[in-house]
Formats: sequence, structure tokens, C-alpha cells
Amino acid sequence: MAGPVAKTRELIDRFGRRVDYIRLSVTDRCDFRCVYCMTEEMQFVPRHQVLTLEELYAVARAFTELGVRRIRLTGGEPLVRSNVMHLIERLGKLPGLDELLLTTNGNQLVKYAGPLRAAGVNRINISLDSLDAGRFRRISRVGRLERVLAGIAAAVNAGFDRLRLNSVIMRGYNEDEVLPLVEYALARDIDIAFIEEMPLGEASDHAREDTTCSNAWVREQIESRYPLLDSAVKTAGPSRYAQVIGRKSRIGFISPVTHNFCADCNRVRVTVEGRLLLCLGNEHSMDLRAILRDSGKSHEDLKDVMVAAMELKPERHYFYEKDHAQPVRLMNMTGG
Ligand code: SAM
Ligand code: SF4
Repeated sequence: MAGPVAKTRELIDRFGRRVDYIRLSVTDRCDFRCVYCMTEEMQFVPRHQVLTLEELYAVARAFTELGVRRIRLTGGEPLVRSNVMHLIERLGKLPGLDELLLTTNGNQLVKYAGPLRAAGVNRINISLDSLDAGRFRRISRVGRLERVLAGIAAAVNAGFDRLRLNSVIMRGYNEDEVLPLVEYALARDIDIAFIEEMPLGEASDHAREDTTCSNAWVREQIESRYPLLDSAVKTAGPSRYAQVIGRKSRIGFISPVTHNFCADCNRVRVTVEGRLLLCLGNEHSMDLRAILRDSGKSHEDLKDVMVAAMELKPERHYFYEKDHAQPVRLMNMTGG
């Protein structure tokens, strides 16, 4: 007689969505203070509450053992975490992982682009909201444009599978830079995605309702000069891609505010405090740090909790819907 068959543990939620992608925040700290993401005076999480590099690795390993194929490291700014390369080198060797990705503000890429590629990072997203040094400083509050542009050049030379710029277009800040940013990407054969500003926490320098530009409007600006062909490439989640005819670059539109793509959602997030966040726009979460720091709990217990958390994944977000509470977390806490 065959013994009992071990039940396969899978990350599937109540709506049949399979989670195979995690966004892992490695720090809530940052060397910029972007107006849409942070307030000027930020309170960061006390260090003892932040997952150690060892704990971050344990979380990543458990997820890959449960079928996660892609991990994106984010933050805050992942490259300000001390010894982050040590973690990245280990993640690059995790069995079962198809892609290791990183989102960065580009400020330290001159130093890190080569080592990241060597450690096995496949693709990088680099935030770039303006090509004008003064405006770049106004949006990032502290950043220097020429440093980030040098970082992008270093990433282009390092030979990643793909590079993508991320731009948040805001009325009153940079709404006339849609075409220059697209042209900058086209000239380098890299992708660019436009992200609608999301109401995550309160912005201190503006009311979000005054600045948020819809991606439908952004797309009109691009199509006034470049014909776009909707791409067959579909990533689960809120991104849709179009191709500039005759060019290598793809243009992404990430429209969480004006379009709801929650039905395809394949992702969860882990905050820097080890909170497994089931949805960007809701507070449903599970405390992984409590399991990691409980000497009575094992790695298998951690995986059980991850599987159980799938029951909590909400059907959708409710950005700007009046009858629903809006998230109070800022993006740097969420893991963008
Ligand atoms: N520091 C890195 C960076 O800036 O790329 C990674 C973390 S950042 C939180 C990730 C992405 O979130 C960035 O592309 C940023 O532009 C975007 N972001 C931050 N706050 C946002 C908001 N309120 N709405 C939309 N996008 C936001
Ligand atoms: Fe830092 Fe990225 Fe947030 Fe800007 S968007 S403040 S670079 S974490």
C-alpha cells in the first residue's frame, strides 16, 4: 500500500489566481524623497523591525519552493541597503527562479550595474521622471539628473536582458515631458512605462487629484508623433504594452487608477518588516517576521503561512472609490 500522498502546496487564491511573482522590499530607506512617494521628513522603520538579509533570503527561498518564478527587489531604494549585493548574489543562484528583477532610482547604478548583471539580475527598471535637471531635483527633492543618466548609460552597457524606464507623469510637474522621455528611450532601444500616480498615503506637496494624469492622456501625447501598435505581450497585472512601429522600444502603460486589471493579478508583496501584503490597494496582510523570529517555527511553517495567506487576497483594489478606505501606506513602505 502506498503511504499518504503529500499534499502539494500551491499559492492559489480564492479567485483561482496563481501567485508566481513577488515584489520583495529590501529597505524602506532611500537616497531620494520623490514627491509622489515620500514626505520630506520621513520616519523610517526602526532597524530591528526590518528583515535581516538572512530573513529576506529565507522568504525568497520559501516562495520559490512554492512555485514563485520571478522576484523583483524594490523598496525604498534597494541599492542603499548595506551588503545588498550579498543577498542578490545568493538570490541569483536560487533554484527554480526564472527571473531576478530590480527597480531602482538609478542613483547608484554607475557603481552597481556591472555587479548586478554578474550576480544574475535579468532586468532592471529605472525611474526617470524628467530630463530637466531643475525639475528632476524638484520631483526627487534631492536627486541629481546627471548621476542618474550616467547610471542608465552604465546599465545599457552592462547588457541586461531588458531595461525599462518608469515615469510618473504629473500635472504641474512634468506633463510636457512625455515625448522627450519617449525619445530618450527610443534612442537607446530601451522600454519606458508610464505609471499613473497612485493614492498611496498623502502626498505633502500637492493634492493627488490635481496632479494625476491618466494614461489615456499620456498615450494621446505619444500618438500625436508616433503610431503605436498594441503589443501581444501581456504581463499579468496592470501593465499593458504598445510598440512604436519600426522601433525596438516598447511603451508600457501601468494604469492602476483608471483601469482595473485585478482579475489577472499574479503577485504579492513583502514589506521591509516582513508583512506579506496581498494587494497594493488593501491592508490585508500576514506577518511573516513573527514566524521567522519564532524559534519554535520551521521553514515549512513559514511556507504553510504563505499558502494560508492566499485566502486573504482581496478580489480587487478600490482606488478613489468613496465607500472604501484608501491605503495609508506610502509607496516606500509598500515596496513599489
Ligand atoms: N526607489 C526605486 C525607484 O524609485 O525606482 C524603487 C522603489 S519605488 C517605490 C518604485 C516605483 O514606484 C517607482 O518607479 C516610482 O516612480 C513608483 N511610485 C512611487 N510612489 C508612487 C505613487 N504614489 N504612484 C505611482 N507610482 C509611484
Ligand atoms: Fe525613493 Fe523610489 Fe520613492 Fe523616489 S520613488 S522616494 S527613489 S523609493
